[in-house]
Amino acid sequence: MSSPGSLDPVADCPFCHIVAGTRAARFVWETDAVVAFRDIAPAAPTHVLIIPRSHVPDALSLGASHAALLAELFVVARRVAEAEGVASSGFRLVLNVGTDGGNTVNHLHLHLLGGRPMSWPPG
Ligand code: 5GP
Ligand code: ZN
Repeated sequence: MSSPGSLDPVADCPFCHIVAGTRAARFVWETDAVVAFRDIAPAAPTHVLIIPRSHVPDALSLGASHAALLAELFVVARRVAEAEGVASSGFRLVLNVGTDGGNTVNHLHLHLLGGRPMSWPPG
C-alpha cells in the first residue's frame, strides 16, 4: 500500500495494470511468468512487448535469480515471432535502459519489432 505523498511503483506501473487486467491491452501470448501484448504506438508492422508478470523495474535490476525468467522471456519472443510470421524474415529484439536508452516505462520489457527491414545503427 502506498502512503500519502509516496509513489507505489507497482500501483503506478501501466504494465502491472495490464498484467492485472485493469488496463486494456491486445495480448498475443501468455505463460505463467510472461505476457506479450501489442505496443500501443507500433513502430513496425509487428511491434509486441514481452514482459514479466512480476514488476522488475529494468535490466539494471536483474541478477542470477532471474535466469529462468529471462529464458522464458526469450522463449516467448520466439513463439511470438513464429505466431506473427516474422521468425524466418527476421526481427529485432530491443531492451531500452535509462534515459539515453529511450526507456519510458519502468517495467522490464522486450520490444519485438518485425515486418519491415530495420536500419542499423538505430537512431
Ligand atoms: P520504452 O520506451 O520504455 O522502451 O517502451 C515503452 C513502450 O510501451 C513504448 O513503445 C510505448 O508505446 C508502449 N506503451 C506505453 N504505454 C502503453 C500502454 O498502456 N499500452 C501498450 N500496449 N503500450 C504502451
Ligand atoms: Zn510493473
